[in-house]
Amino acid sequence: MQCSKCRRDAVIYQRYSGLHLCEQHFNRDLEAKAKRAIREHRWIASGDTVAVALSGGKDSSAVLYFLHRLLHERRDVRLMAITVDEGIGGYRDPARARAIAERIGVPWVTASFREEYGVTLDEIVARKGTGLSCSYCGVLRRALLNRVAREEGVTKFAYGFTLDDEAQSVLMNVLRGDPYRLTRPVREVAGLVPRIKPFMYIPEREVALYAFFHVEGFDLAGCPYAADALRGDVRGILDAYTYRHPATKYSLVNLGEALRNPEQPPEGGLRVCERCGEPCGEVCRACQVLDEVRRGA
Ligand code: SF4
Repeated sequence: MQCSKCRRDAVIYQRYSGLHLCEQHFNRDLEAKAKRAIREHRWIASGDTVAVALSGGKDSSAVLYFLHRLLHERRDVRLMAITVDEGIGGYRDPARARAIAERIGVPWVTASFREEYGVTLDEIVARKGTGLSCSYCGVLRRALLNRVAREEGVTKFAYGFTLDDEAQSVLMNVLRGDPYRLTRPVREVAGLVPRIKPFMYIPEREVALYAFFHVEGFDLAGCPYAADALRGDVRGILDAYTYRHPATKYSLVNLGEALRNPEQPPEGGLRVCERCGEPCGEVCRACQVLDEVRRGA
């Protein structure tokens, strides 16, 4: 099949746009969409230090490569990568993330659950079972990433979240019947490094292809605890539905953005945990998780 824009061979067919694209036009299309997202959200400004939360997987490696291409000639914006080792045997390998950051040419730092909390995710799962593994993992990783980022002078946290991730999050909040998360406005909170998501309008399979073209050695293995996540079920439902209705993921992401009305005052607001000093809701969830794990409750 030929590219819809030139005579070269196509490497991908976009069902939602009806376009076949060659490698060159695919790269151009993806990067234009990511740049537009950054511009429209005003995500990067002069003086920023942007840190990519680098797991070593395809999405975060791709966003690191893209941001390096976008920013490497700017003297007013710094780019770095931070990797958190949750302690998941056979899955998380910080050496892989380090090699990716070094090949791209970006400074890299790491932190681990073991050093920070004195316990690995594998040990937490051994004590608590797999039912809440992603919940514990997410809470503790976010808190650790945020602390390291602040120490490094980071002003923006870049995630490799894709259109699929964002659409799944909206649908999960609907299925949980969680109006607060659906409508919670995006706003800056003192002590919490703001997140940016340059790939939030780009389908996961396109981000994977971009990583395949540009990043050597990214991790293809899946987390052994991922099968327990509600997200896995939602992904299956959404992928099957989107096959017949290609614009569905965009519709969900647009719905999520429309519901987060920035004019709406937050319910309760965030405060700082009196024990660890991290920004939190009512009681710091990271401290609750650690208490539960240590008590074996
Ligand atoms: Fe953590 Fe769950 Fe992701 Fe595994 S799938 S890394 S347990 S959040």
